[in-house]
Amino acid sequence: MIHYSCDLCGKSLGKERYEANIEITPVHDPDELTEDDLDTDHLQQIGEEISQMGSTKDFELEETGPKRMKFDFCTACAHRFAKTPLHPKMSRAVRYSEN
Ligand SMILES: [Zn+2]
Repeated sequence: MIHYSCDLCGKSLGKERYEANIEITPVHDPDELTEDDLDTDHLQQIGEEISQMGSTKDFELEETGPKRMKFDFCTACAHRFAKTPLHPKMSRAVRYSEN
């Protein structure tokens, strides 16, 4: 059985568990190409990445692909996160333990 603990406060989670699925996807607007986008080094880099993709199956789209993150929260933290997902205190709360 998988044991879950809250990713924010570290509390052990029982039946009541909340999940936050966050996906960060790079968005490129084709109408807003800058000179950097057309830079030859950049195009060469893409070419190298494509050739890497062809040669190895282990290639990861770490920099360019969407990132998916999953967090487990207890009830209190889930409500807090839903209210202010980008609140500066959210990241600091990880260091605090409930003693
Ligand atoms: Zn929590």
